[in-house]
Amino acid sequence: MKSVGFIGLGNMGLPMVANLLKAGYRVHAYDVVPEPVQVAVDQGATSAASAAEATSRADVVVSMVPNSPEVEVAYLSAGGILEGARPGQIAIDMSTIDPATTRKVGARLEAAGVRMLDAPVSGGVPGAVAGTLTIMVGGDPGVFAEARPILSAMGRNVVYVGPLGSGEVAKICNNLLAGVSMIAAAEAFTIGLRSGVDPKILHEIIRTSSGNCWAIENNCPVPGLVPKAASNREFAAGFMTDLMAKDLSLARAAARDLGVSCFSGALAHDLYMLASRHGLGRKDFSSVIQLLAPLREGASG
Ligand code: NAD
Repeated sequence: MKSVGFIGLGNMGLPMVANLLKAGYRVHAYDVVPEPVQVAVDQGATSAASAAEATSRADVVVSMVPNSPEVEVAYLSAGGILEGARPGQIAIDMSTIDPATTRKVGARLEAAGVRMLDAPVSGGVPGAVAGTLTIMVGGDPGVFAEARPILSAMGRNVVYVGPLGSGEVAKICNNLLAGVSMIAAAEAFTIGLRSGVDPKILHEIIRTSSGNCWAIENNCPVPGLVPKAASNREFAAGFMTDLMAKDLSLARAAARDLGVSCFSGALAHDLYMLASRHGLGRKDFSSVIQLLAPLREGASG
């Protein structure tokens, strides 16, 4: 399999295309917006006039679009992937979406003999650029084995999870934890700073104690504590607040569908949506700390 149709050339899709090209794949690129298609062509891809055309020219098709409605459009609408696909072809959706939509689209593809995998990613734009994404894959294990080389061109940690939709479930569980723990980290540091505790000392204590988590170690919402944290760059994303709000809405929906509770996820979802309404939607999600209290490093009042 040496050619890939790539649908959705955004912040993640474009660097993923660059890595596929680097690994020797021919890429037929399509996006609803023309500008990123030109960027992909400049990188060495060929442009396609529709998702159907990109699919019909390729061995495998990959999609990387924002959310469930866009996946339905990309696959099922006129000029979409299903229209251009042939029996036996593999379609890999790498977007973060509702697992129920994955299964719905997968059933439509299966009826046409097309084999689908869901393969959402973690690692953000830096991981997409470096080709070091973690990729969580759902679908038939045999299809996964066939598609693995393509996935390995875009990610370092490629993990098979289970049946179709399972990759999305794993991704949603991870981001539920990441979103909730960032808010807890922001609350803990706001209390510490407001009480006059030296943030460096507080950080070192938490980092080596039971409160440690990814937010504390890698993306601390207080500047000056973790070199690569977005808080050092006035919260330039990073992983945007709007994307975290979207992923928490998926976690909430999954919990509702399963009849289980998701109290902290629901609160976190509301808080990220509030942050978005306060102009933080396109900032890194660690900017949620700005909703809690204005930060005055080391201040006690
Ligand atoms: P983005 O908004 O930058 O890019 C999405 C692209 O899809 C855009 O260029 C848009 O024009 C295109 N698109 C929308 N509908 C389309 C359609 N029907 N056909 C073809 N193209 C279409 O988003 P992104 O940051 O690249 O994220 C893509 C997915 O990856 C999302 O599901 C996101 O949750 C997930 N993700 C993003 C990050 C991150 O840090 N950005 C990290 C992990 C996962």
